[in-house]
Amino acid sequence: MSLKKRKTIALVAHDNRKKELAEWVDWNHESIINHNIICTGTTGRLIDETLRNSLPENFDGEFNLTLLKSGPLGGDQQLGSLIVENKIDLMVFFWDPMQQQPHDVDVKALLRITVLYNVPTACNRATADFLISSGLFDTEYNPKPMDVDDYLNRKLDL
Ligand code: PGA
Repeated sequence: MSLKKRKTIALVAHDNRKKELAEWVDWNHESIINHNIICTGTTGRLIDETLRNSLPENFDGEFNLTLLKSGPLGGDQQLGSLIVENKIDLMVFFWDPMQQQPHDVDVKALLRITVLYNVPTACNRATADFLISSGLFDTEYNPKPMDVDDYLNRKLDL
């Protein structure tokens, strides 16, 4: 897996944290629009609106934003599947630590797969700030994948 200069960034937030993510995107829009953005459905609509309002009026380019299904309708699973295909370079996922979600199992699965595939993931604003201000953000970076050889070559006792 290699992180190219132009990265694909997944942005997701639960309802109680969408405002926080929109503020973070607004603050960082100049960096973010240089990358491909992938969001779960409702987050994506908000981020689209946020970016359109943040961009200067004379900005004539287009940013690249892809909307998946809404999280509880399978969007988190779609994102997990993209991670398995090495199509996501970074994820900012502001999940809600104070409220149970109908799709808690999907949230857990998504977070698990980011660890397995060594995807840089920010679940709070401070970490997101560190990620976006890292010297690695706009350069090539090859994260070392987790070693799963022992698992794949294990002897099955059947
Ligand atoms: P949403 O999904 O962006 O459609 O609200 C968030 C989530 O994945 O929980």
